[in-house]
Amino acid sequence: PMKSQIPFALGGISHFSTTTQSSPLRVRNLIGGEFVDSQASSTIDVINPATQEVVSQVPLTTNEEFKAAVSAAKQAFPSWRNTPITSRQRIMFKLQELIRRDMDKLAMNITTEQGKTLKDAHGDVFRGLEVVEHACGMASLQMGEFVSNVSNGIDTYSIREPLGVCAGICPFNFPAMIPLWMFPMAVTCGNTFILKPSEKDPGASMILAELAMEAGLPSGVLNIVHGSNDTVNNICDHGDIKAISFVGSNTAGMHIYARAAAKGKRVQSNMGAKNHAIVMPDASTDATLNALVAAGFGAAGQRCMALSTVVFVGDSKPWLEGLVERANSLKVNAGSEPDADLGPVISRQAKERICRLIQTGVANGATLVLDGRNVVVPGYENGNFVGPTILSNVTSNMECYEEEIFGPVLLCMQADSLEEAIDIVNKNKYGNGASIFTTSGVAARKFQNDIEAGQVGINVPIPVPLPFFSFTGSKASFAGDLNFYGKAGMQFYTQIKTVTQQWKDLPSQGVSLAMPTSQ
Ligand code: NAD
Repeated sequence: PMKSQIPFALGGISHFSTTTQSSPLRVRNLIGGEFVDSQASSTIDVINPATQEVVSQVPLTTNEEFKAAVSAAKQAFPSWRNTPITSRQRIMFKLQELIRRDMDKLAMNITTEQGKTLKDAHGDVFRGLEVVEHACGMASLQMGEFVSNVSNGIDTYSIREPLGVCAGICPFNFPAMIPLWMFPMAVTCGNTFILKPSEKDPGASMILAELAMEAGLPSGVLNIVHGSNDTVNNICDHGDIKAISFVGSNTAGMHIYARAAAKGKRVQSNMGAKNHAIVMPDASTDATLNALVAAGFGAAGQRCMALSTVVFVGDSKPWLEGLVERANSLKVNAGSEPDADLGPVISRQAKERICRLIQTGVANGATLVLDGRNVVVPGYENGNFVGPTILSNVTSNMECYEEEIFGPVLLCMQADSLEEAIDIVNKNKYGNGASIFTTSGVAARKFQNDIEAGQVGINVPIPVPLPFFSFTGSKASFAGDLNFYGKAGMQFYTQIKTVTQQWKDLPSQGVSLAMPTSQ
């Protein structure tokens, strides 16, 4: 009977409290294989950004509940680490099948809580699914090294072993993909995991956790605790947590990096961005304009690989006309509407911040060639909508350029040469990604060599690598030295044990206290 009261978009039943049927549904924690109600007195509302409706409430997990989750993860570790890698992989095989089965349900939940269009929400799930597929091959990825006969009758080999309890802290902008960057890799390596979803859109994590359990992940291997700063600080401080994966803003990321490092933990921290595209005069017009518009305004600019700045080499005027024309034809609407190209931004505060930064651009002398601030979406008048916005004549000392806007705002700059354009990009503190659009191989090769960004696009705007590579942001966009997923992701979640063995009958040499050498 309860099931019918729960909107389909919210997923299954077990991760919601059953005691608050009249008020908004309260999201449960997952501790030791059970979805449990938090006793917390404070909650945060999860708000549909297209309507302001309260979708559910997230508890600020108590310290005792948090400790119980870590303790469950610690308890589950010994037997999980000794479960054959093939069995762990098989659970991932099953998980990828279940994610495909429930793709629509996941996407619907993302659109409801995060706001992006349904089509884009499918992409969010799919890019995460690819990491699950990647984790299915963990055994090959983990193969160690072996050198036979390093000395007389002695072999040395290395083994990759899991760390223990690992934790993941997620941002709001990819509610499925980013949790899936983390726990599938971590648990397939043999770790147990504590996931802290974004308090703004926890639903996809909850559905994924249900699917992971259905796929056969044993109790305690994946745990979920909700909350915000206090929960995050608890994760940084707890002595039984060995590693933290973080994706989000620089303020939170650098705080976590420092606080967790002080406790001896390893941290991989993917942070903010200001991704540039350089457009050369010889770039092919149509393909380039389409790419700029898609990468600038897709997901309402709330992607870590969104394009936020274009540097035109030479005269930008003809390009601007084409950009405005295309951006103008985009449909701003609730993500659940079939014709929507871009949905709302995540919150009222985010909208206010974006609008304020646009205004600083105008005040500092940039030209507002397209203003999306007053967009009205019929039927969704309360939504946090910002339409595509383009500022030209932007210079690098402007606040709108220095700050990450994280909204559907494209800044346009001009440079006289490729060298000058590269110099602009390299002076920016962020280094997630940068692209060049050109038909010249010489320009492209120079760009690839000279550009200081971790992910480089040549005639492609959003170079988010597939999971057999890694997500390699650099400069202020990343802290740590082992990136997410790919070989580096596996290395992050494992430590190396080196074994030296001797299996040979040797005549006794007597006791020697000299340093052993390989002769
Ligand atoms: P956010 O930093 O506000 O939140 C991320 C997580 O950190 C949340 O779980 C939140 O509860 C926690 N948190 C926030 N402030 C904290 C604090 N002061 N102390 C402790 N914990 C804190 O980020 P967001 O707004 O959810 O996400 C947007 C940001 O994420 C943007 O800067 C974007 O560029 C970045 N991002 C980066 C990547 C990447 O791969 N580089 C990917 C996605 C998003």
